Amino acid sequence: MLRSSANSGLVLATQRLGGITSRGTNLSATLMKGGPLAERVRAEVADDVRELGQVGLATVQVGEDPASTIYIRRKHEAADEAGMHSVDRKLPASISQEELVEEVAALNADDGIDGILVQLPLPRGLDDAAAVTAIDPVKDVDGVHPFNAGELYLGRPTHVPATPLGIMALLDEHRVPLDGARAVVIGRSDIVGKPIAHLLLQAHATVTICHSHTDDLARQTLDADVLVVAAGVPEIVTTDMVKSGAAVVDVGINRTESGLVGDVDPDVAKVAAFLTPVPGGVGPMTIAMLLENTVRAARFRRGLLAFPGIRG
Ligand code: NAD
Repeated sequence: MLRSSANSGLVLATQRLGGITSRGTNLSATLMKGGPLAERVRAEVADDVRELGQVGLATVQVGEDPASTIYIRRKHEAADEAGMHSVDRKLPASISQEELVEEVAALNADDGIDGILVQLPLPRGLDDAAAVTAIDPVKDVDGVHPFNAGELYLGRPTHVPATPLGIMALLDEHRVPLDGARAVVIGRSDIVGKPIAHLLLQAHATVTICHSHTDDLARQTLDADVLVVAAGVPEIVTTDMVKSGAAVVDVGINRTESGLVGDVDPDVAKVAAFLTPVPGGVGPMTIAMLLENTVRAARFRRGLLAFPGIRG
């Protein structure tokens, strides 16, 4: 892959002014920042909400995990800013599986709610899969219901998890070639690794999925034109593991003693052509795409888009 023509002195100067030169990194990669693109998506979502009338998003949080509380608050702030009606259901960790499923069923039946998101993982004793399967697939804006996951697997995406959608939008924004490219994904979670692998496959990349049992990670990553890292392991990808000119997407968010770090050593900017910063890369895109999914759910529910197999 060729290096971006945007690697001009001007761009480098801007990046340095952006404060990405911690540890004295001598940057050459174009930073794929999520903020500006996310802002555009959110402005479009706000227009769509005005056009559609009321659009409703409900989140369900069980227990009081502090990180989940922050994520949910950010989602509600973004939904409110886009003019959506948002409902924040907070349930005690002591809730039974049946009560949780009843809460989800009540949101399914609520005509003012277009999108439902159950914050995972649930506290011990509750079944993530059963809770997710209780969501009406048309309202499943996280794209985790087996129906939607299956449609993605079959190459007919309906609701797709927001983070992989955000990654694809960032790669598209920077015109990173995917057709025929070698893509390597580190991580095989249902919410990031597997869906991004499917989206890359559907974009005609040759995809390899690595995970915690992969032997000799570098052997795989060094071959990647596009490398997506979603392991949740601080700086698991180092400069010597990246092919010169690759596009590297760092999904990881790790809270360490030295602050928030990604899964990719920032020095990778010395060899990659494109790199997402942490924070400010994939994170802002995830929230923007969740809002876009909620508008999509509203369109499905109003019959403006056909929902395959179930409605439309
Ligand atoms: P997860 O814990 O569900 O999955 C992690 C995956 O990484 C697993 O499939 C595992 O096999 C793999 N893995 C773990 N250690 C590995 C190793 N040493 N070598 C190779 N593979 C390894 O995590 P997740 O929900 O997919 O999230 C991954 C990371 O992305 C986390 O840091 C999470 O906080 C972050 N995340 C960020 C956003 C965002 O919006 N920026 C969204 C979702 C997740």
